[in-house]
Amino acid sequence: MEPIDRSTIWPYDEHGEPGEFYYSRYGNPTVAEAERQLGELDGGTALLYPSGSGATTALVLGLLQTGDTIALAAGCYFGTSVTFDALERWGLRYVEYDQTGPPPDGVQLIWTEAPSNPFLTMPNLEAAAAHPAPLVVDATVATPVHLRPLEHGADFVLHSATKYLAGHDDALLGAVVCRDAAAAETLRVFRTRTGIVAAADTAWLLLRGLKTLDLRVRRQTETAAAIAERLAGHPMVQTVRYPGIGGLISFDVADNDTARRVETSTRLVVNATSLGGVTSVMESRYRWEGERVPPGLLRLSVGLEDADALWADLARALDQR
Ligand code: PLP
Repeated sequence: MEPIDRSTIWPYDEHGEPGEFYYSRYGNPTVAEAERQLGELDGGTALLYPSGSGATTALVLGLLQTGDTIALAAGCYFGTSVTFDALERWGLRYVEYDQTGPPPDGVQLIWTEAPSNPFLTMPNLEAAAAHPAPLVVDATVATPVHLRPLEHGADFVLHSATKYLAGHDDALLGAVVCRDAAAAETLRVFRTRTGIVAAADTAWLLLRGLKTLDLRVRRQTETAAAIAERLAGHPMVQTVRYPGIGGLISFDVADNDTARRVETSTRLVVNATSLGGVTSVMESRYRWEGERVPPGLLRLSVGLEDADALWADLARALDQR
C-alpha cells in the first residue's frame, strides 16, 4: 500500500533548490500518486480537488471568462446548477438543454452527465463533441469502469470521487481529468494560486478505493440491474429509471408521502443522501430538488449487500401500508 505523506513541506536539495515537492499547495506525493492512477484509468491528466463541487468550481473558474455561458444538461446533479447559480454574480451564465440531443449554439462550455443523477439519461456524446465548445462529462455515476469519456471526444471528465471512486462514504473528494496536457497545466496553476487543493489523507483513501473499484462497480451494476427489474414488476412502482450501467437507480411511487414512508421503512438500505458507497442508500429527492423531480421519486444507490436480501428489504418497505 502506498504511504501517506502528510508533510506540507519538503527540504530543498543540497544546493538549496526545490525538488519535485516542496510545499503541499503546489504538490504532494500522495495526491500526485492518486492523480497518476486516476489519470491512467480515464486516459488523461487528473487533478484532485477537495470535493466534486470544488472540482466543478475550479474547472469553470479556471477555464471561462465573465459573460461566458455553459450549456448544462437538464436534470443532471442538482448541486451543479446550485454551484453555477452561486457563480452568477461573477458573470457566469448557464442554459439548460436536453443532453440526449445536440447542445445549443452560442455557448462556451458544454456540461453533460453520464448518466444524469437522478434521471439517469445518457448524453449524446457524439453530438456534444461535434460542438465547437469544450465538453465536460461528469462521469461520477458511470466511473471509468463503464465509460472513458475522453475516448468519446470529451475534453474534461469530472468526478465526485466521494462516490464510487473512493467508494466507502468516508472521503470527500473531486477530480477533473483532462485530455489536453496544456489545459491540465492551466488548471494546475489556477489550483495552486486559488488553493483549492485536496488533502493527502483523502487522496490516500482514494488510492485504497481504486484497488477495488472494478470489483465494486461490476458487482453494484449486476445487483442494480436485478433490483431495477424487480422494481419494474412491483405494483407500487410507477416508473423505473436505470440505464443498464452503474449502481444508481431512480423510481417513482405514487406521491411524496408514499416515498417518505418507503424511505423510512427499510432496514438494510440506509435512508441517507449520497451514492456510490459499499452500503446501499435511498432517499426521496423531492425534499432537495422540489418541483424539478416527481414528488414520489426515490433515488437508490445499490451497495455490495446480497441482491436477494436487498430486494426483500425494499419489497417489505414498499408493501408496508
Ligand atoms: N456530480 C455528481 C453527479 C454528484 O452526484 C455529486 C454529488 O452528489 C457531485 C458532482 C458533487 O460532488 P461532492 O458532493 O463531492 O461535492
